[in-house]
Amino acid sequence: PVRYDVLVIGGGAGGIAAAASLLKRRQGLKLAIVEPSEHHDYQPGWTLVGAGLLDRADTVRRTADILPKGAKWIRGAVASFDPDTSEVTLEDGARFGYRVLLVAPGLKLDWDAVPGLRETLGEHGVTSNYRGELAPYTRDLVRGMRSGRALFTAPPLPYKCPAAPHKALFMSADTWRRAGVLDEIDVTFCTAAERFFHVPAFAPALDGYARRYGVNIACGHTLVAVDGPARRATLQTGDGAQVEHPFDMLHVSPPQAPLDVVAGSPLADAQGWVDVDPGTLRHTRFDNIFGLGDGCSTPNAKTAAAVRKQAPVAAVNALATLDGTALPARYDGYGSCPVTVERGKVVLAEFGYDGAPLPSLPTWLIDGTRPSHLAWMLKERLFPPIYWQGMFKGREYLAGPQMTFRPVAQD
Ligand code: FAD
Repeated sequence: PVRYDVLVIGGGAGGIAAAASLLKRRQGLKLAIVEPSEHHDYQPGWTLVGAGLLDRADTVRRTADILPKGAKWIRGAVASFDPDTSEVTLEDGARFGYRVLLVAPGLKLDWDAVPGLRETLGEHGVTSNYRGELAPYTRDLVRGMRSGRALFTAPPLPYKCPAAPHKALFMSADTWRRAGVLDEIDVTFCTAAERFFHVPAFAPALDGYARRYGVNIACGHTLVAVDGPARRATLQTGDGAQVEHPFDMLHVSPPQAPLDVVAGSPLADAQGWVDVDPGTLRHTRFDNIFGLGDGCSTPNAKTAAAVRKQAPVAAVNALATLDGTALPARYDGYGSCPVTVERGKVVLAEFGYDGAPLPSLPTWLIDGTRPSHLAWMLKERLFPPIYWQGMFKGREYLAGPQMTFRPVAQD
């Protein structure tokens, strides 16, 4: 089979950013990206689509248009990994070899883990911003609602963008408040977690918003079934009891899991994630394999913001592996949830592996534990260009001051 210096699995946020970083550092690298989809989604934009503040079309680009210069696109999906021969096999049977493999295929949205959910998505008031094409349905449901019961659910951690369920809740409640109908709507947030938001530093601000909107919070409540036509959700509590919750509108954040192709491979850890060192992002058993993004085992908040920090680390360490030198780069666990708490205000929760705040900007400019208009401006105006023009072009100075490696000279 054709052998690449670097083979990247997945052309999502992690795969494209790491490939761009690699090619920026070393032109002429023989690099290919395996990606099945013709389109790339800017998923962080979907909460704003659900809030009616962004068009769905503005979150989509053609894969062909975002590939870094010098990268070959292999259109297809990996079906199996063979780390012993340094080869992968695609679903169509094609095989490709590599000197270094970068694995970034994301995770699985496990709609089928909740009986009744998949059939009713997009109908009967059941929606989810986790599917780009449904975010406009969220917007329409929220705009059309004048009274009744609205239910929002959050699945067990880990799931991508740990504040996405909260963002859907807050932006909906804010819309109802502005329309003067919030008092007529019974708003409930059910989370599998033991707290409304799991990172203590940011909890007071977010708890405060939940109180302000009059949200009923049910912790330790996991969605286990949906009956769309009857508009009834079933939730399970920690002691195994089941409770029914009628709704007029239901926003679901689905359970999330490793992709089957990873979980069933030699690359997986016991839970099924790509098993990497949390600092170097190198696979714990295979020295020429690195992982980044939502699909890997690192216990950070699974976000594009985390990928922004991981991509240069994976790239630098991949090049060191090609050169046979020690790995110079370390990832510090940074992840970020820009929680849209009302239109014009964001609580910019930035934190590392242990939940300790890792602010990118001086706290006098943005205090991440408080709602901030400037943080909203970043989310709405600056983060999209940082994604498309920074991360996807290998412009690493946009990765912020916390990088902990010396730049590697270009060839
Ligand atoms: P993805 O970007 O999902 O890409 C994975 C890619 O792998 C896809 O292109 C897929 O087609 C491909 N793939 C899948 N299977 C295979 C296979 N077998 N072979 C080859 N390729 C394959 N992050 C933030 O930082 N801030 C936010 O505000 C934010 N909000 C979010 C809101 C929502 C509603 C959602 C859903 C996500 C949000 N995120 C946010 C999270 C962010 O989008 C992800 O963390 C990020 O996209 C992860 O990048 P990734 O490359 O790991 O996965």
